[in-house]
Amino acid sequence: LKMETKNSLKKIASILNEGDNIFIFPHIMMDGDALGSSAALCRVLRSFGKRAWILIEDSVPDYLKFLDEDFCTYDDTLIRDPEICIAIDCSDLERLGKRGGIFANGRTSISIDHHATFEAFAHVNCNDSSFASSAEMVYELILEMNGPATAEVAEGLYTGIITDTGNFQYSNTTAMTLRRASALLDWGLDHQRLIVEIYQSMRPERVKLNGRALWEMELFSEGKGAIVSVTRSMLAETGAVMEETEGISEALRNIKGVEISVLLKEWEPKLTRVSLRAKTVGNVAHIARAFGGGGHVKAAGCTLEKSIEESKELLKAAIEEHIKGLTFQ
Ligand code: 5GP
Ligand code: MN
Repeated sequence: LKMETKNSLKKIASILNEGDNIFIFPHIMMDGDALGSSAALCRVLRSFGKRAWILIEDSVPDYLKFLDEDFCTYDDTLIRDPEICIAIDCSDLERLGKRGGIFANGRTSISIDHHATFEAFAHVNCNDSSFASSAEMVYELILEMNGPATAEVAEGLYTGIITDTGNFQYSNTTAMTLRRASALLDWGLDHQRLIVEIYQSMRPERVKLNGRALWEMELFSEGKGAIVSVTRSMLAETGAVMEETEGISEALRNIKGVEISVLLKEWEPKLTRVSLRAKTVGNVAHIARAFGGGGHVKAAGCTLEKSIEESKELLKAAIEEHIKGLTFQ
């Protein structure tokens, strides 16, 4: 039995309007889209007098801390018997990490997601990869709910849009993306402040790690592939943490001629997390899926229970193979 994955946001709005106790679930290792969308929705739900919390299990990254105004909690007992559990930006149940069981306890569970790879896991699923960000779906949802069009709500949504489109650079950016972003500025959003929070408040350790890692990048497949590893020892050298590798895979893709870039993160000695990016015709969701991961056509990831060296060989081989099959214009 294949689950319906294209329920309308209108239907989700009416379900949310009926509920009073709601848990929101961003994906593990949250990014700007997952947390920004969740924070905006949480704020709107509370403005309607509902009890709403964002239930998380790992830490909020430094560059997103400004979004969490007492919305995030690790305490799953804050709402004993949630009427509604809503996952945002999660392409499958695994992305909920250890919270899968709590999510399933919701009397009604909902999923809003925009990934190209999606496996329905809620009672009501709305997946649409024509949206560049989950934030844009939540924007439409908030309009359906007649939520408040305030600067504070706009902040979370705009964060999701700019982080998932690489500041409107990526091919997922549509005319609608720009219209929605424009509307959010009209809601009174402090654009300058937001940019400083997200992009211009880095720890020096993070910038050092960037340089340290990129110094060791390797090109392969006649310059169409680029790979870099971040090891535990690089973290020790620079004082950075693994979450501060955000942006390294994009930096590699910026190289002229590179079609696919990959960042390997040595999470544990035998656990490697992989971030893949494609530039034009490549499909990294396809590559990630072969390793049990997923994501978008041009930004995807997977996790290997292998050493960083073994992972490197496997990924290079898979990417080489993929690049061979591509036709460049
Ligand atoms: P990032 O490289 O920024 O961590 O992730 C890029 C995209 O790939 C995100 O949209 C994320 O949802 C997806 N992704 C990253 N890692 C995994 C993974 O291990 N499994 C799946 N299914 N998707 C992943
Ligand atoms: Mn997203």
